[in-house]
Amino acid sequence: MRSAARLTAALTLLAVTALWTAGRDEAPGGLAAWGRLAALWSADLLILQVVLMARIPWVERAYGQDTLARWHRWTGFASFHLLLAHVVLAFLAYAETQPWPRLATEPGMLLALAALAALILVVVTSVRRTRRRMRYESWHLLHLYAYLGVGLALPHEFLLGTDFRTPAARAFWWSLYAIAAGSVLVFRLGLPVWRTLRHRLTVDHVDPEAPGLVSVYLSGRRLDRLPVRAGQFFVWRFLDGRGALRGNPFSLSGPPRGDSLRITVKVVGDGSERVAALRRGTRVLIEGPYGRMTAATYAGGSVTMLACGVGVTPLLALLWDLPYGHGRATLVYRTRHPHEVAFGRELAWLAEHRGVRLVPLVGPRAEAGSWLPAEYADYDDAEALRSLSPDIAGHDVYVCGPDAWAASVFRAARAVGVRPARLHRERFGW
Ligand SMILES: Cc1cc2nc3c(=O)[nH]c(=O)nc-3n(C[C@H](O)[C@H](O)[C@H](O)COP(=O)(O)OP(=O)(O)OC[C@H]3O[C@@H](n4cnc5c(N)ncnc54)[C@H](O)[C@@H]3O)c2cc1C
Repeated sequence: MRSAARLTAALTLLAVTALWTAGRDEAPGGLAAWGRLAALWSADLLILQVVLMARIPWVERAYGQDTLARWHRWTGFASFHLLLAHVVLAFLAYAETQPWPRLATEPGMLLALAALAALILVVVTSVRRTRRRMRYESWHLLHLYAYLGVGLALPHEFLLGTDFRTPAARAFWWSLYAIAAGSVLVFRLGLPVWRTLRHRLTVDHVDPEAPGLVSVYLSGRRLDRLPVRAGQFFVWRFLDGRGALRGNPFSLSGPPRGDSLRITVKVVGDGSERVAALRRGTRVLIEGPYGRMTAATYAGGSVTMLACGVGVTPLLALLWDLPYGHGRATLVYRTRHPHEVAFGRELAWLAEHRGVRLVPLVGPRAEAGSWLPAEYADYDDAEALRSLSPDIAGHDVYVCGPDAWAASVFRAARAVGVRPARLHRERFGW
C-alpha cells in the first residue's frame, strides 16, 4: 500500500520533469530553467500535500491520519525548500536584466510574492518548536493560509510559466489542480455537510463519569446508515453559540447504535469545558468518521488493550465490539489517581459476561519514559508487560493514551515479540 502512494508521487514528479524537458527548447535555459524545474516540483508536492489532507475516505482507511499527516509534513517542507530554490535561481538568472522591475510588471508576480509570504507563515508555524507554543486553533487557522498560497500562485504559474504553454502541460496541471480542489470540496466540505444534514445529530443528555469526565449521548436520524465503527472518531462542532465552529476530535466511547452515539470527554480546556455544559437539543456538525483502529484490524484470538486516562474511550468501544472469545481480552487501564478510573459498571459487565480481565495500574509514573506506575519501578517495561498479559506476543494489541506513554508501550510490545501488523493505536495528539 505504502509503495502505491510512493509510486503515485514519483510518477507525478516524473511527468513534471518530462514536461519540463520537452518545453526546454522554447524557454530560457541555464539557471532560469533549473529554477523553473524547482518551482514545478514544488507546485507538484504542494498539490500532493493538499490531496493527502483532503480526508478522502479510502486514502484515510488505507494509511490512517497519522501516516498521512507525517507525509503531509515531509512533502510540505520539501515543497517549501524547492520554492526557495526557485526564488534564488530565478533571481540569479535574471539579475542582469533587473529583477526588481519584474516584480511590478510581470503578470501575477505580486500575487506570487503574497503566496510566498503565506507559505512562509505556514512553514514557520509548523516547525515543531514554534508549533508547541501555539494554541491548536491559532495554528490551524494559520495553516489554512496554505490554501491561499496555492491559489495566489496560480496566476503567476499560468501567465508567466513557460512550462505551462503546451497543451499537454496545461492538461496535466489543470487536472492536478482540479483533483486537489475537487477532493477538498467533496470530502472536506461536501461530505461533512451532507452527513450532518442527513443524520441531524443533537445532544440528548450529558452524564458525569468521573471528576472532569463527562459522557455525551447523541441522537439523530438514520444512524444505522452512518458508516461508523467502534474505535473511530469524529471532529465535533456543537452549535451552542460560543465558538461553535471550532471542531474537536473525540472518539466514540461505545459501539455505535442505530439510534444513539456516545462520546466521553475529559475537560482540559475551552472546547472540552463547553462540551461538559451542553444542553439537550443542541445541534451538532460532524466531520468523519475517521480512524483505522476498528474491528477490521482484528486478526482473531486474544486481545490486549492498554489505555491511559481518557485514552480508554475507543478501547472501551472496541471491547464491546470485537468478537473475541470468553476470557480472551485483557484491559490494562493506567490512571494517575484511583478516582480517574471510569466506566466501572460497564467494565464489571464486560468482566462478568465476556470474561474481560481488568488490570488497573494506578499511581504516579515509575520513571520518565516508562509506561508503568511507581509500584512497578523494579520491573523492566517489557518484562512487566509480559507478566501482565503472559502470552501477549500472539495477541492483537490496541493502545491509546498520551503520545509518549503510547510510544513506551509500543517499544515494550515490540520487545516482547508482538508483530507490528498486530499493534494498533489511536493518537490523541496533533
Ligand atoms: C483522534 C483523536 C481522538 C480523541 N478522542 C478523545 C476522546 O474520546 N475524549 C477526550 O477527552 N479527548 C479526545 N481527544 C483529545 C481532544 O481532542 C482534546 O483534548 C480536545 O480537543 C482539547 O480541546 P480543548 O479546547 O478542551 O483544549 P485546548 O486547551 O484547546 O487543547 C488542549 C490540547 O488538546 C489538543 N487539541 C485541541 N484541539 C484539537 C483539535 N481540534 N485536534 C486535535 N487536537 C486538539 C492539543 O494538543 C491541545 O494542546 C482526541 C484527540 C484526537 C486527535
